[in-house]
Amino acid sequence: MKKGNKRFRAGERKDRNYLREQKASAKGQYPAAVLLTCFDSRAPAEVIMDLGIGDIFNCRVAGNVRNADILGSMEFACKLAGAKVLLVMGHTACGAIKGAIDNAELGNLTGLLGKIKPAIDATAYAGERSAKNYAFVDAVARKKLEKVILTSSARKTKGANKRAATIADMLCACGLTWKHSLTSRQEFLEKMRDAIRLCCQDL
Ligand SMILES: [Zn+2]
Repeated sequence: MKKGNKRFRAGERKDRNYLREQKASAKGQYPAAVLLTCFDSRAPAEVIMDLGIGDIFNCRVAGNVRNADILGSMEFACKLAGAKVLLVMGHTACGAIKGAIDNAELGNLTGLLGKIKPAIDATAYAGERSAKNYAFVDAVARKKLEKVILTSSARKTKGANKRAATIADMLCACGLTWKHSLTSRQEFLEKMRDAIRLCCQDL
């Protein structure tokens, strides 16, 4: 994914034969990674990481919010299909984040944006806290990433695996920790927080 994104940023792409990739993956799929990304039309992971058919599982939903169905899909990807990398990807100028800041209301969208609002309150920001301020919108997007990965759902779906309440918990449950040197769940979560901080600094 990193190499593909490097190619994309350089204006290059791998010479692909989609028909051949389709045929090669027809009998089974073994993607190396599962992604949770926003459905923004300008941030298609397969394109901006120059990936092909069968390379990744990509869960796309506005604001890259997490719910039980997303977690279930990730569990399938990691535990049953063998994905070894989990990437939660936000992006700049996210319309869903802006909508949540503006308290936009529309049918089912209202509930979706409600899942983003706790990240707005949790974002420490000294400047103008409005959807017109892109720096604030991006700060909320970063906080949202942290919450998606590390925060438990307030309501747990009936029958859902309790240990799958957070993505971090799901990683533990699926054995996808960089374990061995880590002795506890707390230590694992601290490592995750450090990793998220580092990623956000790189943006
Ligand atoms: Zn978005």
